Amino acid sequence: MYEKTLVLLKPDAIERQLIGSIITYFEEAGLKIHGLKLLKAKKSVVETHYQEHKEKPFFPSVVEFLTSGPIVALVVGGYESIAKVRKICGDTEPGKAEVASIRGRWAHISRHSMTGGILKNLVHSSDCRESAAKEISLWFDECELLDYSSPNDGWFNF
Ligand code: ADP
Ligand code: MG
Repeated sequence: MYEKTLVLLKPDAIERQLIGSIITYFEEAGLKIHGLKLLKAKKSVVETHYQEHKEKPFFPSVVEFLTSGPIVALVVGGYESIAKVRKICGDTEPGKAEVASIRGRWAHISRHSMTGGILKNLVHSSDCRESAAKEISLWFDECELLDYSSPNDGWFNF
């Protein structure tokens, strides 16, 4: 089934100038970009975004990290894209992420920060349909999302 999911490129991805590489990764996997913006996130939005983690010890550090610099918010669509995008992003802990995933490929140098402070793992992606719907409406207005056809639709999306 065709699904849309929310992806955030975290401040480390922007600072490391990986925006293009990461978006290319999604596009080459047959996923379509429906929404795209560069922004400085508001603390309240990030707190809502990560509300499932609000009791966890790392909550303040992840909120601080996400508001520390520019981020890119994306809505990515495709056949079973929620699970596919999670796979492409890789394990939360970059040292455990598949080498060919975004985190395994570019965030592996951050692996030692898992126990200490901020875990810089480059990307966020929604983990299920319910979170995808909530997160897309948290980060995007309806008018910022566009549908369009592509000659690749027949290859990737059915
Ligand atoms: P994911 O981003 O893979 O969905 P989680 O939802 O478990 O992972 O956690 C959200 C984010 O919080 C992670 O991507 C990471 O930036 C941060 N985080 C998770 N666990 C830790 C931890 N133990 N220490 C520091 N930061 C963490
Ligand atoms: Mg998560």
